[in-house]
Amino acid sequence: MTQQDRRALVVGLGIAGIATAIGLRDAGWEPVVVERSPERRTGGYFVGIFPDGKKALADLGAAANLHVRNPVDGKDWAVGRSGRARPGSGFLDRPGGPYAVVRGDIEEALWRTLEERGGAEVRFGTRPVAVEQTPYTARVRLLQEATGAETVEEFGLVVGADGVRSSVRKLAFGPDRDYLDQWDAIICAFELAEQVPGLGREDGSIDARSRRAAWVFGFADRTPTALLTYRTTDVDGQFTRPPVETLRDVYAGMDHPSVAHALDQLEQAPHFLFDSVNQVKMPTWHSGRVVLVGDAAWCMNLYSGMGSSMAMRGGADLGAALREHPEDLGAALAAWEAGLRPAITGHQRRARLMQQLFVPSGPVAERVRAAVLAVLGAVGKMASRTRPTAPADDGNVPPSALTSR
Ligand SMILES: Cc1cc2nc3c(=O)[nH]c(=O)nc-3n(C[C@H](O)[C@H](O)[C@H](O)COP(=O)(O)OP(=O)(O)OC[C@H]3O[C@@H](n4cnc5c(N)ncnc54)[C@H](O)[C@@H]3O)c2cc1C
Repeated sequence: MTQQDRRALVVGLGIAGIATAIGLRDAGWEPVVVERSPERRTGGYFVGIFPDGKKALADLGAAANLHVRNPVDGKDWAVGRSGRARPGSGFLDRPGGPYAVVRGDIEEALWRTLEERGGAEVRFGTRPVAVEQTPYTARVRLLQEATGAETVEEFGLVVGADGVRSSVRKLAFGPDRDYLDQWDAIICAFELAEQVPGLGREDGSIDARSRRAAWVFGFADRTPTALLTYRTTDVDGQFTRPPVETLRDVYAGMDHPSVAHALDQLEQAPHFLFDSVNQVKMPTWHSGRVVLVGDAAWCMNLYSGMGSSMAMRGGADLGAALREHPEDLGAALAAWEAGLRPAITGHQRRARLMQQLFVPSGPVAERVRAAVLAVLGAVGKMASRTRPTAPADDGNVPPSALTSR
């Protein structure tokens, strides 16, 4: 392959896109990134990073750049049916000692790592509108939103890292209806400008009822984030009014202050995500010189708790496969996909069960969930509880960085 053949277009500057740009750089490719937003994102919703994600961060050389925000003194409060809150098990009590961050923290760590590797050309406010494959290149028409100018460029590889409603997927593989598996659920995620009244600075709370739930995630050094998630048989009907009106109806009667506070704060929030819950299921993630990575290819959805980790894994492994097969792109992409698919399939299956943890499917599931978490909480209290506060280069947590909670 010539140097021209090794110019790769990466669509999307999210976790998958930046991780892929790092992987490409390490494999001797030149990444050119287009991002439809006018600038890089910051902040965002709570993300837990589990051992697979820590390993991917380490493999990308980004572990030391990650700012971890695990609460040191906070408690997670479980709200019961009576509306009374008791100390309970939170997301961070899951096995694997997850890191607590917001999405922007991961993107920042990866961005700094990419810059350390020489960076990449990034074009903001730009998106692809056509992708055509020839035997030797992928020809992409790019639209610059601000001016309306279009250019056509050729690349050795096109990476669609543009999220669950990927435009590259539509252009190169087909319409959403062929690949999007819509679940009967809605999420609304946003940052709280102020902590819930009555909660400690780093506290979180979970009010998980039959078919609707409100989560608050506390951090050591920033204000909390909220996640409202509920089940509905009429997904389209949830988008006919302003989200806050819909949510006020759905959450009527849930009286814990965390719910009222979250809804009030949502009215003021400069940014929020209000969306249906989907998975992306595709028989293959690559075709010729086009490959999809992250949510664009395999969105497992938030309930899996693994989307960020696998987006990083995808970028890191793509770089490794290109290094292993420097002269054979087809072999590299096939090996990459074969290596990743079993883990992704497993996480997609487990997401259904994990959904019960986030938002029980009915009154029985609500009681089972509460009972299981009570037992796990009791077991957890017998064991010594430690939480990581800082990662090391290899993704492992040094003993000095563990704090009891
Ligand atoms: C509420 C919530 C909680 C979550 N919690 C966790 C968790 O605890 N742990 C975990 O591991 N994962 C979690 N996830 C999942 C995780 O956030 C995603 O899997 C991950 O961010 C996917 O990254 P991505 O880069 O593939 O896609 P995205 O984050 O969607 O990024 C896509 C990028 O592409 C850009 N783009 C889109 N279209 C175009 C276009 N046409 N042209 C150019 N650019 C474009 C977008 O602007 C964006 O920058 C959660 C998700 C949600 C919604």
